[in-house]
Amino acid sequence: MSFESFNLHPSIMTGVQALGYVTPTPIQLQAIPPIMQGRDLIGLAQTGTGKTAAFVLPILQRLLRCPRGRIGALVISPTRELAEQTYEAATELGQKTGLRSMAIYGGVSMDQQLRKLRDGVEIVIACPGRLLDHLWQGTIDISNVEVLVIDEADRMFDMGFLPDIRGILKCMLKPRQTLLFSATMPDDIRRLVQEVLREPVTVQIGRTLPAATVSHALYPVRQDLKPALLKELLRKTKTESVLVFTRTKYRAEHVAQLLGRAGFRVACLQGNLSQYQRQTALDGFRDGSFKVLVATDIASRGLDVLDISHVINYDMPDSTDAYIHRIGRTGRVGKTGDAFTFVTSEDTPMVRALEHLLNSPMQRRTLEGFDYGASAPARGFTRSPGEMRRRPIGAVASAARY
Ligand code: AMP
Repeated sequence: MSFESFNLHPSIMTGVQALGYVTPTPIQLQAIPPIMQGRDLIGLAQTGTGKTAAFVLPILQRLLRCPRGRIGALVISPTRELAEQTYEAATELGQKTGLRSMAIYGGVSMDQQLRKLRDGVEIVIACPGRLLDHLWQGTIDISNVEVLVIDEADRMFDMGFLPDIRGILKCMLKPRQTLLFSATMPDDIRRLVQEVLREPVTVQIGRTLPAATVSHALYPVRQDLKPALLKELLRKTKTESVLVFTRTKYRAEHVAQLLGRAGFRVACLQGNLSQYQRQTALDGFRDGSFKVLVATDIASRGLDVLDISHVINYDMPDSTDAYIHRIGRTGRVGKTGDAFTFVTSEDTPMVRALEHLLNSPMQRRTLEGFDYGASAPARGFTRSPGEMRRRPIGAVASAARY
């Protein structure tokens, strides 16, 4: 099947070709036809499956015949990174349609957003908090929205955004088409679906399992040896871009500093950074000036760098869902990837849960030549992640670069 079979407008097909998409991904094949028929839809799909285009393309097709200058489609995103990436996808796919998109999120000044809103846009991709600010101030009108997308709904729920979403829904008129995407379906999301969607079609891409293109390996290691193991592993492994996940902001900062001192081109992405710092880190990672990005879980969604060859869980994630989301950053459309997870004795229950999810034992690896019996270093992380969490977060680095 090709994109031609969707009968998209030629101006939209130009965008598809410009992005080099030749064959629709499974979620696109299943979701685009019902969305184009105007059906509500639940998309159970992990990140990296091509779900953004699955909703952006039908939105562009629908809005081509709507009046300009009013918001016809609203996408609600849990994080600024995801909002930016969806905005970029909408802009690139819609480059020849004349439809205008904008991203709305907090941490940046309102002025620019107000100017863009006044100039007129047809597609808004927004994080809930800042969108509510605009709604309260009467600076945005979403009463004409014909298509609403709730993206990464489970993440939105994890971040406590569900009440905000209900608030936003109150400002919208019915009937409208509602599309909800989620990697998992916790009970609260199921309830939201029942309240908000009308006779939805459900499209599920595989089970909520990690992509089959990713291989998984565990590196058992003492907590205090993690920094040395990471450096050694990065030196000895052939990698493209590498994403390293830590459990806390503090640990992300320190691991990044440590790698920077060891000569790696590294940036850090964590919640205490300003929007400018985040963008610098992301841009540098995307264009290859940083080979390693050390991040907390905020970065695990929507990070759209296609050649991440390795995800390294420096700290074990705290749920199997978080694991899936983290490693969803590698092995994306048609590529392979490796997920390495450092494990200490505290992580045994999570290892069991992961092996249950993957339905197979995970390979235990040791790094050849690494001194696993070394005595504790004088500096570094000699405490457990729990202890690290209790330590106050120090001054935020002034730049994302080390
Ligand atoms: P998403 O799951 O929407 O974050 O998409 C993951 C990546 O796949 C993005 O970089 C998209 O540009 C890319 N992508 C989406 N659809 C296709 C396609 N049909 N062919 C090739 N790449 C695609």
